[in-house]
Amino acid sequence: MIANFLFLSGSPQVNYKVFFEIARDFRKGGLTPDNFEEVLNLIDELPQINVRRDSDYKIFEHLNLKDINQEDFSIIIRELLRRGQEKSKKCWHPEACSSSCNVDGSGQIIVSAAHSIQNNGVLSKIAKDGHVTTFSREEVGFKGKDVGKKLASIFWGFCNHHDAMFRPIEIINYTGTSEQNFLYAYRAFVIICHKKIEASHFHNFGSQSENDIIENKNIFDRAILDKDYDAIITHVIELPLFYPIAVSSGFYLDFDFEGNSILHSENRMENIYITVFPDNGKTYCLLSYLKEDENLYQELASQLQSRNNFKSDLTVLLAAHVENIYFEPIYFETFIACQAESILKVFQQAQFDVQTLDSQGNHVGNLSLTPPDYLKNIEEINFFGY
Ligand SMILES: [Zn+2]
Repeated sequence: MIANFLFLSGSPQVNYKVFFEIARDFRKGGLTPDNFEEVLNLIDELPQINVRRDSDYKIFEHLNLKDINQEDFSIIIRELLRRGQEKSKKCWHPEACSSSCNVDGSGQIIVSAAHSIQNNGVLSKIAKDGHVTTFSREEVGFKGKDVGKKLASIFWGFCNHHDAMFRPIEIINYTGTSEQNFLYAYRAFVIICHKKIEASHFHNFGSQSENDIIENKNIFDRAILDKDYDAIITHVIELPLFYPIAVSSGFYLDFDFEGNSILHSENRMENIYITVFPDNGKTYCLLSYLKEDENLYQELASQLQSRNNFKSDLTVLLAAHVENIYFEPIYFETFIACQAESILKVFQQAQFDVQTLDSQGNHVGNLSLTPPDYLKNIEEINFFGY
């Protein structure tokens, strides 16, 4: 019998070594500091992934490795996320360095937990008893998950000094200045990249993904240093009612609302950023992209305006692409929970690609499962319940 976790070494999408390290540290699956090196060496001896068979794993037999059960698997994954988070702490500001950031006594930058959605301005408006509800996208199924408002939407992406750049959206009411719109888009950009870097501790996203982050960051950095807030184009959609929903996220789109392909360049992924928050009895939805990506997304933005079907169109964008989303708990139970099946379906279609491998077992590309007309919202999902 082959210990189940060994099969992770056959997946090009994951960095199995970090999983094995934690199993070793926690003494799971029979992995210990004594046999760890040997296990890694034996994995190197296995045939290439594309020709590997179960019987090849016989070389591990003498080590008495054991299956890791579901509960221990979850424990390891939680630790993986924690270590990924720990390793990816950094200040994203373009001037970040030990002489301009907040530092400790030994000159190390102190990165603070920053909210990607304003704690006092927004989360407190949609919290109930200090809690908000977000999506828990488990492997099977989909459900809401309550989180404390203080922990909701935080990430370790700025030192205190540079986090102050968000004051115009933290402490000043939204009036739609270009600086405010820029800051919302920038923060959405940082949170999605930061989460990706945290996850890349375990998942192999490939060099293209790293390059996307670097190239996009260069453009944002230049705009911040030049105070060139018009580097971001923002379309503001005002829904006339208060919906207790908050979002800060970003993604790229392969299709517009008519099902036409959006063709991306090779050198940088062109993202669209979305921010949703209630204010003044209304709900604001900001859809932003870099000015230099206008040729890709202006058609989509004008479709959104002319369709005048905002609740459906915004919902499907959020349901298919966004995880950093928070709801007031009772609102979630009343209007969102009942749509779980459709939300999961749309999300999976949009997110999961089939990886294609060459004859050597190297990852060469992805095959998308996204139907071109998914933005038409055939499932009729609606996040804006009244
Ligand atoms: Zn800093």
